[in-house]
Formats: sequence, C-alpha cells, structure tokens
Amino acid sequence: MPERYGKYGGTYVPETLVPALTELEKGWRAARRDPKFQRELRSLEATWGGRPTPLYRADRLSAEMGGAEIYLKREDLVHGGAHKLNNALGQGLLARRLGKQRLIAETGAGQHGVATAMVGALLGLRTEVYMGKVDMERQRPNVQRMRLLGTTVREVTQGTQTLKDAINEALRDWISNVESTHYLLGSAVGPHPFPSIVADFQSVIGREIARDSHRRFGDVPDLAIACVGGGSNAIGTFHPLLRTRTRLVGVEAGGAEGAMGAASLSRGTPGILHGMLTYLLQDAEGQILPTESIAPGLDYAGVGPEHSALKDAGRVEYTVATDEEALHAFHLLARTEGILPALEPCHALAEAMKQARKMRKDERIVVTLSGRGDKDLEVVARHGQPG
Ligand SMILES: *Cc1c(COP(=O)(O)O)cnc(C)c1O
Repeated sequence: MPERYGKYGGTYVPETLVPALTELEKGWRAARRDPKFQRELRSLEATWGGRPTPLYRADRLSAEMGGAEIYLKREDLVHGGAHKLNNALGQGLLARRLGKQRLIAETGAGQHGVATAMVGALLGLRTEVYMGKVDMERQRPNVQRMRLLGTTVREVTQGTQTLKDAINEALRDWISNVESTHYLLGSAVGPHPFPSIVADFQSVIGREIARDSHRRFGDVPDLAIACVGGGSNAIGTFHPLLRTRTRLVGVEAGGAEGAMGAASLSRGTPGILHGMLTYLLQDAEGQILPTESIAPGLDYAGVGPEHSALKDAGRVEYTVATDEEALHAFHLLARTEGILPALEPCHALAEAMKQARKMRKDERIVVTLSGRGDKDLEVVARHGQPG
C-alpha cells in the first residue's frame, strides 16, 4: 500500500511521531497476513458487531423514483448504530497486538468516541477521548454513553472547541505517550499509514456489497454511492469496487442553500492539515475555513487523501447535497421504507434519488446507509415535518 495516493497523503508530522507511525505500519502489515488476527476480527465482527449487514432492496423508495432499483447497505444495523465500529474494532485489536495499554481518540459528534469506548471496554484497554467543549454541550447523550462505557472524556477548550481542535489535542497526547498509547483515528484521514489502515478495516463494507450483489443479481451494482466526511465509509464502499465497472459517487455536505458547507473536494484546494496533503477548505493564506452541515459527521474541512487522488484521476465523481436535500431524503426514507437514517447518509440518498430517475428500471444503485438516525431526531424535529 502506497505512502502516497498520487501526490496526496504523506506524513506531515513532528519527528517524534515517526517511530510510532513506522511501528504501526509494520504491525498492521503483519496483522493483515496473520490468520489468527483475521479470525479474531471476523469472529468479533460477527458475534459482537452484528456483521455481515444486509443488502436491502428498497422497493417503495425505488418505485417512488420510477427508475433504477435502489439497494441499501445497512451499516445502520452495526453495533452502536454506524459503520464507525468496523474501524474501531480493527484498530483496537491492532493496538492490543502491539502491546499498548491505552487508547486515545478524538470525536466531533461523539459517534467515533462511542465506538472507541465500546472497543476499549471489550478489550480491557484504558480509554480517553478528546472532545471540544462546544461539541460536548451539543452531544450530551454520547458523552454519557462514553462515560457509562468506562471512558474518560477530555474537554478541549482550545480554538473553536470542536473536532479540528480535538484532533490537535489527541495528536499532542500521542506525542507524549507513544510508548503506552495507540491513537485510534476515526476516519480515513491523518498521516500515513492511518488512511490505508482505516480503508482496510472499512473495506468489509464493499466486500460484502460485491459478494451480495453477485448472489442477488449476478453482477456488481451499476452505481455505488456513499457520503463523504473524512471519507471512511465511502472508501470502504469503493475499494473493493475500484477495479470493476461500477460507477462510484461520493457525496459531500453542501450545507445550507448558498453556503460553503463542508465540501472540501468539490469546493476546496490542496493543502496540509492533520499530517496529510489533501483537498481542504482554506483561504488564500492557508487558514482553515469554518465549515457547517446539518450532519455533524460530515462537518470537517479536510478529507481522506485517497479521495483527493480518486477525484483527480476521475475514477470517482464527487458531488454535494444540501441540508435541505438531506432532510427531504430523511423523511422520504422514513415514510417509504420504515427506516430512520442518520443525516450523513441522507446526503448519499439524496444523490441516489436524483440518479435513479435518470436510470433504467433494470439498473441497480447501492447506497451505503452509514448509520441510524436516533442521534439526529432533535435536529430533524427542529426543521419541522414536510408538508
Ligand atoms: C462519522 C459518520 C460519517 C462520516 O464519516 P466518514 O469517515 O466520512 O465515513 C458518516 N455517517 C455516519 C453515520 C457517521 O457517524
């Protein structure tokens, strides 16, 4: 696996972190080839994590669009309610294999923090999660979940007191404690080897899609769509399909009508953030711009470097959906299929709805439904019911 994806990626970190990143890469490469590690991962995914997840054909939603068949990859059914566990479990096992006694993580909306807390408890590893003060106030139930799972939540009062600052604090902690501690990064971002490791553990999504598509309709999907925050559920969906004929589309958060949202690939330029070279939302001086989205998990000014390369290569198309389009998709899925989705994958659903109308009835779209909507009910209610 390359240290760079085209010109993107790399390791823009202080010298003191280089040995830890090298150790991590070596440990991960050995674990990939170790049948015992793979067996334990598969076994816990199945018996504790709820894998494999179903590939569900959404007939009422498809009929509403009057075009292609829409299938949902049900990552909302994974333990904890989102795809984030796939990565947290893999990295947790890797940390234990490397002899680490302590996990640290950063979290924005709290979803990755909860996934890490669950894994920390499962594996008996001391766990501390950095979270911005503003995010802690906005996401109280997830703070409570982490504490109930035995995790210490560290309040971050620097900067904007949100995800970007929590990542900086977690990196700082890691620099001081590399011997004892694994930094369990939550998306396909950061310095090498993190983007490759996270893509590897999330690729279980795309492998199951490819396998179940062949079982169900004897072919790969014509189109696969996933939402892109840091880009982990999308890269996990795309990886096993990159060498097939499947068209691939990643959907970023467009934010409110007329706003910039958090669409780093669609509206950003290349620069360096959190140890990687990638597309960023930045001003002419390289200052990171404030982002906003109705979906907290998509609210990040950067994106995984592999997506930057896939964009430049033209293999994946990247587009945006607005807050309003995502909300519309939320209500439509709820009423046609009896599923309350997280607002993040509603961006992917909104794009699927646009595409389905333009496609033939014998064509097939797979949308990765990255999480369930329980966490978003208050936000959805605040925007009111559709007419
Ligand atoms: C965190 C999150 C995302 C965005 O993260 P990626 O790394 O881009 O996948 C998407 N959906 C849900 C449900 C999330 O919790």
